[in-house]
Amino acid sequence: MSRLLSLIVPFYNEAEAIDRFCEAVLPVLDQIPGTRWEIICVDDGSTDTTLLHLIALSQRDPRFCIIEFSRNFGKEAALTAGINAARGDALIPIDADLQDPPALIADMVAAWQQGAEVVLARRTDRASDGVLKRQSAAWFYRLHNRVSKTKIPENVGDFRLMDRCVADALKQLPERQRFMKGLFAWVGFRTVTLDYARAPRAAGATKFSGLALWNFALEGITSFSTLPLKIWTYLGAVGALGSMLYALFIILRTLLSGSVVPGYASTFVAVLFFGSVQLMSIGLLGEYIGRIYLETKQRPTYLIRKIHGDVG
Ligand code: UDP
Ligand code: MG
Repeated sequence: MSRLLSLIVPFYNEAEAIDRFCEAVLPVLDQIPGTRWEIICVDDGSTDTTLLHLIALSQRDPRFCIIEFSRNFGKEAALTAGINAARGDALIPIDADLQDPPALIADMVAAWQQGAEVVLARRTDRASDGVLKRQSAAWFYRLHNRVSKTKIPENVGDFRLMDRCVADALKQLPERQRFMKGLFAWVGFRTVTLDYARAPRAAGATKFSGLALWNFALEGITSFSTLPLKIWTYLGAVGALGSMLYALFIILRTLLSGSVVPGYASTFVAVLFFGSVQLMSIGLLGEYIGRIYLETKQRPTYLIRKIHGDVG
């Protein structure tokens, strides 16, 4: 009895990459012994001809199923939709731009057949990713793992293999704001890690601007840690203590020397300092309150316009 592999591929304006993706991936899938495969393509509201290409693919080969979103909901939503739809015994999210080497799928499946429930793919070489992106990624992982109990393995993207039991666990998580890297790490399970070198994009340009990555990092940290909320309590306490000591010092000095110093500069500095600390902490509270607000609305993570082909 052969087991079913489900590839989950998010597509956002990837028309140029589709043919190359299939050329690279299909031979690998066909050669893995003891398995059948399906490919769940999620069209994340592409505005180019991506959807037409994908539909044509699914008409030629019924092993392709296309989930068409009503608009762009983002990669996290696309992955969630793919995981919900996949029927495989193992699920593999993979990028459409061939930055995740398809050849690694064979090794992942081998590790899975030997009993691993999660097979991670770790990038050993991010040379294809500009200095700034690499450095900011390194800082993000360090900060995140320091402030959050859920440790995200460094340099591991969404490209991985998950057993059916892991996918079922993910489907139970009710949150709408889905930071997939964090959720993947949160569910746990028996994990094996493989290394690979990150290739440059096969075609097109990255879909994540600097600002998008900044928001993504903020989302990651506020989704999995409340430490940023606590920092301000301590900072406030230290500030309050400091200003009380300073007040005491001024009183003593006035009593001893009697001199009245026109201290407008220090007053001004203190007002500005504490004003900005308060603004920052209000902003931080806002970040979490915004999250609570979005969750309470209970809106779905994504909307599907149409499903092309046979999806579970
Ligand atoms: N993607 C998506 N929705 C988006 C942005 C990206 O589905 O809003 C897909 C994109 O088509 C690609 C994958 O997510 O298959 C990774 O995107 P990209 O290569 O731009 O990210 P990077 O590799 O630069 O981090
Ligand atoms: Mg990419």
